[in-house]
Amino acid sequence: MGEEATKTIQTRLHIASGERSWLHDARLASREIFNQTIRLKQQGDNRTEIQKEVDRDDFLRNNKCAVVGKALQTWDSYQSLKDWWENQDDPDRGKPTPPSTDKSSAYPLVMAHTEGYRLTVNDNTNRVQFRISPKPYKKVKGHLRGEPDAMDELRDALTSNEVDIGQAELLYRDGVYYLHVTVTREFDVPEPDTADTVIGVDINERNVALTALDRETMQTKGTLVLDYGRVKQERQRYHTITTRCQEHGKTSIHHRLGDKEERFTEWVLHRLSRAVVEFAEQFSNPVIVFEDMSGIRDEIKYGAYMNRRLHKLPFHKFETFVSYKATWREVPTDTVDAYYNSKTCSCCGERGYRQGRRFRCTNDKCNLAQDHADRNASVNIAWREKTKLDGNTTNYRTHKTQPQVRVVRLSGSGRVSRPTSSRFLAEQGVLAHG
Ligand SMILES: [Zn+2]
Repeated sequence: MGEEATKTIQTRLHIASGERSWLHDARLASREIFNQTIRLKQQGDNRTEIQKEVDRDDFLRNNKCAVVGKALQTWDSYQSLKDWWENQDDPDRGKPTPPSTDKSSAYPLVMAHTEGYRLTVNDNTNRVQFRISPKPYKKVKGHLRGEPDAMDELRDALTSNEVDIGQAELLYRDGVYYLHVTVTREFDVPEPDTADTVIGVDINERNVALTALDRETMQTKGTLVLDYGRVKQERQRYHTITTRCQEHGKTSIHHRLGDKEERFTEWVLHRLSRAVVEFAEQFSNPVIVFEDMSGIRDEIKYGAYMNRRLHKLPFHKFETFVSYKATWREVPTDTVDAYYNSKTCSCCGERGYRQGRRFRCTNDKCNLAQDHADRNASVNIAWREKTKLDGNTTNYRTHKTQPQVRVVRLSGSGRVSRPTSSRFLAEQGVLAHG
């Protein structure tokens, strides 16, 4: 059997019926349960004793067990931190303090699926509807909102037999209730050498270029360039504001904007990486292939282009995000040598050169006069993977020029206009279905 992985999908509540105050009360009751659990644990009670001892009639029994469980997890992480502290030699390192038992602020309401809360997909509206039971015989109902990708993922999880919907946590911030839903699945990722479709990924500071080649015929099945230039401009805007605040010494605002910028970069990376996996999934037995960037940093000769690539965006993080999402969808990933992928002609395999956004081939006998430079590199990455998988060292090429490149722009932070789902973005690059 394969491995198991869990992830959290973040959504907001849109409440249609029931009282918001019930949710508030339940979060306060959760705090009392938390406090009581920690106190009993400090007295040496075990889980079963605690579950029996903590009892209240304004709370669902099942929710109580879930909140006690979360409190015990907090206790366990405190214990392991304390163990670590006791086994190290530096007495000046701050001793970890046990979880506080006298706070009265709200605590997340933890619930098990189908007991404390239940999610269903409405066939007509495609909305994910929720039912939360904050108290016995009291129900809060409505639908969930969130990023299109997150909502797609949740719908997939609710309709799939392979994905388990686990616990959810109800949180509150600035007037909005959030529901964080955990989903778990078992996965079994095939080996790269079982792939039928080889997908080369080239990333630089402006775009991500993807090319899917049939491993047998090396015909192009799809090609897509995801341009995130506009999103980057917004990122730079945050950066400018941050710098200005620094100049005025307003450090607290600076920190807030710094966080915002980081969250924004993460948002971009998530959307891009998800689009890569969605693109790959449209083909039979795909393998997603990156250039191996390790060690390149020391290669001074590699020049300005590569240096720019390595410093502008967190490429490593992007790769990690793609790999994680790919594993979740049972798509293998692989890496190939980075050398000359951007300087080799994808059509004939001879050297060429990059001129701005274009690639030009210097081989007179080659059909390719010019191509989109980043797409050209992604084709080479796919070729290199085929060579690697088939144990073939020749530079054989099909000598076919690539089809017209499709450029899709990623835009908006979601606040101004509704962002398109990455599945829709990914579908733009497929040449022919079936
Ligand atoms: Zn050529």
